[in-house]
Amino acid sequence: MARPPAFHRRMIPGLMQPAPLQIIDIARFAATAHGRREIVSRLVDEPVWRYDYRGLMTRAERAAKMLEALGVQSGDRVATLAWNTHRHLELFYAAPGIGAVLHTVNPRLFDEQIVYILNHAESGVLLFDKTFLPLVERLAPELPHIRAYVMLSDEARHGAGAVNALCYETLLARESDGFEWPVVDENAGAFLCYTSGTTGDPKGVLYSHRAIVLHSMAAGLNGAFGFDAFDVVMPCSSLFHATAWGLPFAAPLNGCKLVFPCERMDGASLQELIVDEGVTFSGGVPTIWTMYLAHLEQTGETPGELQRVVIGGSAVPRAMAEAFKKKYGVRVLQIWGMTETCPLGVVATPTPSLAALGEEALDEAIWTRQGRLQFGIDLRIVDDDGRDAPRDGETSGALMVRGPWTIQRYYRAEKDAADADGWFDTGDIATLDEHGFMRITDRKKDVIKSGGEWISSIDLENVAVACPGVRIAAVIGVPHPKWEERPVLVIEAHEGAAVSEADVLAFLAPHIVKWWTPDKVVFDTVPLTATGKIDKKVLRDRYKALLSGDR
Ligand code: ADP
Repeated sequence: MARPPAFHRRMIPGLMQPAPLQIIDIARFAATAHGRREIVSRLVDEPVWRYDYRGLMTRAERAAKMLEALGVQSGDRVATLAWNTHRHLELFYAAPGIGAVLHTVNPRLFDEQIVYILNHAESGVLLFDKTFLPLVERLAPELPHIRAYVMLSDEARHGAGAVNALCYETLLARESDGFEWPVVDENAGAFLCYTSGTTGDPKGVLYSHRAIVLHSMAAGLNGAFGFDAFDVVMPCSSLFHATAWGLPFAAPLNGCKLVFPCERMDGASLQELIVDEGVTFSGGVPTIWTMYLAHLEQTGETPGELQRVVIGGSAVPRAMAEAFKKKYGVRVLQIWGMTETCPLGVVATPTPSLAALGEEALDEAIWTRQGRLQFGIDLRIVDDDGRDAPRDGETSGALMVRGPWTIQRYYRAEKDAADADGWFDTGDIATLDEHGFMRITDRKKDVIKSGGEWISSIDLENVAVACPGVRIAAVIGVPHPKWEERPVLVIEAHEGAAVSEADVLAFLAPHIVKWWTPDKVVFDTVPLTATGKIDKKVLRDRYKALLSGDR
């Protein structure tokens, strides 16, 4: 599979321009081709901000000069602790634009993890939203590499705090318009995103300009998000988590209006922006959409112009996709990806062969699979011996990926994370089918091994979450004296809902094989990770002795 070196020796050089793929060119294009298309942003404690792609370009130029004035040079890391706002967007272009690396830090991580990754990345400047001043003040003594702190605020609301933070707007006001962007090698590092470190220390994934630009072009395609210049895009996945799925690049590249919700992801706040700004497209993890749908249900409101919602990060409950379509006419696009894939891997979009089976079969396929093969990401499933498993939609195996926006090596690691042929083991277990669809059955570490057979926690959760009264369903494997492990279902009910163990088990029964029936159903608050996923490690620990007395 590795390409033979002879391929290079016999090459006739192409005679087209070797123009590097650079992130700044996306902003430059949007400013020229869609200059008056709007960008709207909520901010922590300031009024809503409105400007357009020309405005973005001008302020990115000033931000670039500001970074240089702070001593940032090509190759340096610049860190942010920031929400989804236009200022964060400006840094998304300014830092890579001068050849530096934007290191977006997830503020929901534990203090020790934030300290670890800031020190590991050796970022020299930290730009942060006002919300994080107490966090920054607390951590500053442990951050020897940071020489300048900048608060992303205006002058009137600025407070320097114990870290003597500079004010972003004051610094920008000092600079003039216009900037001579350097030519940056397309393989240079541009963004540094750390995995959340649910196992071991967080690991840095360093995206190149080339990977980001190719990824953004692919994300907008009709077989993926299907953007055009009429779309109004609101990223509800975090800018600090794998670049909000590339939306800050894919949207301008297609001339879409951009709407930023800052940190307010509750149902009512999202609804206000969706209706007022005419949002047609949004994306986020399932927990956000659970809150949003509950809001619509409670208020009887409808989602304005909203047409498509992409959901990923964890499996999309079928009930959620169904509610969006049947009650509100909104199409759900499930995506699968990971920090190591920039992060877009696959998107569940229809094909003629599936459409020919009828609407119901098409919905079923789209809602129960994570996505379909996309150009740019090769997928493969392998058995325990590393042999290809059949693509029959039934046989599951370890999911491997490769392609121009897949990781080669973690930041500052000594060995490659991908094998010699470029395959990276995702840690997920999946099936592939003849239509090119991929279905995740579990994460390797979450799979439940019962009596030598595997039970898919995702499949069980998907059924359980459709039970009336259930808000979140989490299935974990709990050690069992006879069966090795048995499934335990942890339910977080909707407020005020009266739902019992017997109700849930009766609801599950017609949908699952008998031996998958959870040994116990417990009612509890379900903990979430820093990236909004169910924290199964915590649950496994909490309930590890639950079945120890069973035979
Ligand atoms: P973390 O740091 O939380 O692991 P990532 O976003 O990199 O952050 O997590 C990637 C993992 O999330 C994938 O390997 C997969 O297990 C899970 N995941 C992402 N999208 C989906 C999806 N649509 N369905 C099921 N699991 C998903």
